[in-house]
Amino acid sequence: MTESIRAPEVLPSACPLDCPDACSLEVRVVDGRVVKVDGDHRNPVTGGYICAKVRRTPDHLYGPDRLLYPARRVGSKGEGRFERISWEEALGLAAERMREARDRFGGESILPLCYGGSNGLLTQDTTDARLFHRLGASRLARTVCAAPSGRAAIGLYGKMAGVAYPDFPKAKLIVLWGANPSASGIHLVPFIQEAQKAGARLVVIDPRRTPLAKKADLHLAPRPGSDLAIALAAIHWFFETGRADLAFLAEHATGAEELRKRAEGWTFERAAEVSGVPAEEIERFVHLYSEASPALIRTGWGFERNRNGGSAVAAALALPAVAGKFGVRGGGYTMSNSGVWGIDQAPAMAEPAPATRTVNMNLMGRTLLEAEPPVRVLFVYNCNPLMTLPNQEKVRQGLAREDLFTVVFDQVWTDTARWADLVLPATHFLEHSELVRGYGSYVLQEGRPVVVPAGEARSNPEVFAALVERLGLARSGDPSTAGELTQTLLRRFERIRGELDRDGLAVPDFGGAPVQFVDAFPQTPDRKIHLVPEALDRESGHGLYTFLDDPGAGRLALISPASSRRLNSTLGQLEKGPAALEIHPQDAEARGIASGDSVRIWNEYGEVRVAARLNPDLRPGVVYLPKGLWSHNTLSGTTANALAPDTLTDIGKGACFNDARVEIDKIP
Ligand code: SF4
Repeated sequence: MTESIRAPEVLPSACPLDCPDACSLEVRVVDGRVVKVDGDHRNPVTGGYICAKVRRTPDHLYGPDRLLYPARRVGSKGEGRFERISWEEALGLAAERMREARDRFGGESILPLCYGGSNGLLTQDTTDARLFHRLGASRLARTVCAAPSGRAAIGLYGKMAGVAYPDFPKAKLIVLWGANPSASGIHLVPFIQEAQKAGARLVVIDPRRTPLAKKADLHLAPRPGSDLAIALAAIHWFFETGRADLAFLAEHATGAEELRKRAEGWTFERAAEVSGVPAEEIERFVHLYSEASPALIRTGWGFERNRNGGSAVAAALALPAVAGKFGVRGGGYTMSNSGVWGIDQAPAMAEPAPATRTVNMNLMGRTLLEAEPPVRVLFVYNCNPLMTLPNQEKVRQGLAREDLFTVVFDQVWTDTARWADLVLPATHFLEHSELVRGYGSYVLQEGRPVVVPAGEARSNPEVFAALVERLGLARSGDPSTAGELTQTLLRRFERIRGELDRDGLAVPDFGGAPVQFVDAFPQTPDRKIHLVPEALDRESGHGLYTFLDDPGAGRLALISPASSRRLNSTLGQLEKGPAALEIHPQDAEARGIASGDSVRIWNEYGEVRVAARLNPDLRPGVVYLPKGLWSHNTLSGTTANALAPDTLTDIGKGACFNDARVEIDKIP
């Protein structure tokens, strides 16, 4: 099934990759091939430009790593030898192995594994959900990113809409907490710069001196995992000094007194001891925040990736309520706004998920090696788990199991694909229809295919619908084509449907620039902020806002934040160059390491070998390897995830990448 291609040479599209901005795009097509991708102005935040990553789309579409045909493994697992087969054979093989697994071992022996390779609404949780629900497959908890932040935000506020990019210049103080928009979500940067030009102060909280930290009025560089201490010290100060907005809290919040008690004792000095940030800097941050209005906190996903991550995000989100920062344009907080659309794919596509077991993707290695009943068929799509999940060596061992049948459905030969038994070529978003929803910018856009798929690539809805059919699970009236899926998803959203048809772009009901507590309110059942939500308190086991000590004090803390070269691991095949471990000159000197030296980074989970690069912008005691590297980027073929523990965050069962504690030796 090939979708029809429209005529003009320059065609509109929208970017569905895992990035908050959801740029609207202008795609130049020559002789049926994409030759250039640039931004256009339909999405007001795009401003006619896009990131360097997506500019490389033609290389991704037509590069040597593109998967063009279905293929079956012929060598041993992981060896990477495959033979081309037809789609007919490939679909038959996938269906046969899933049928056999279900009949012999039960549906739970089948595990779908997917995450964020595309945030398009048609590419995930549509016909794929139908297939796996009807098979009675294991369910997947997609927790590798944003799970603790999401749990914290929903627990405190429900899905309250955050401050929009264009309102940042209204703020007098902007706090970037664990966020580096210069690498991900670049369209926020000019709005921050505009605010600074208009006199706003900027505070950045990050263990690295990021590009915006260099231009900030104040940069706090806490030890990874200690942001909670800073947030609690701020909350404590507001209550202790009588500056908490008690009138606002009485009217709009529950749990204020309990929060006050939990923050008790968190003086600036205690927070300084734990975080390594001087007490006077923490105090300065709190004073700046107290005095400014509008004051805005933009939380990123950097400070959730540790044992205290959920509590840290919850405490940061509690601050605007405690300090009374809502109710003015440019004041409050912003995080992910994906929930404001209310469009839920899976329920629209299939009956509810069966009550089968749920597998946490952060425990994938252990699951593949130890789960009962064992996973017999692993179906990987929109995801490169070998390079993106914690405890990489265990994931690799799991993929190496001879009795595991692994399908990888992807656009390119990922590191994971090399461990597959069957690979299926997937279309790129410029080759299929998509509904694109930003989680930073408030736009929903429709993307239509602008070129025919390379090789024999097929779209997710098409392939999963075909498997539903082959397995005898289809029911009359199942929406399956892109058009039917779009119609089903938007059937309750007439205004949005109309705007998409007319303009190719829709905005939420509040128009795209909400003022919190004026036209956006908590979506909790009682419409109040729950500062100590019971459910989160129970979930955390030891109580929300309880600080857990560093898991490896004395060792170096490895962080692996997003880089400007890839989106997670997406587009990593284009970055062939070697990666470097960044290390503070002081830590390097103590180990006799100079820039360019080969080093071994190791801990109880594994080791990585790369060259070292000295970087004075890091906090001493913290080393950095970027997120999303591929095996070809390091000397050992392993990446930062080989050193990441498969422990879980306090709430949300998220990944603790930044709890990796390591030793480093120079390789002679
Ligand atoms: S990755 Fe982000 S910045 Fe880049 S084109 Fe896509 S939406 Fe825009």
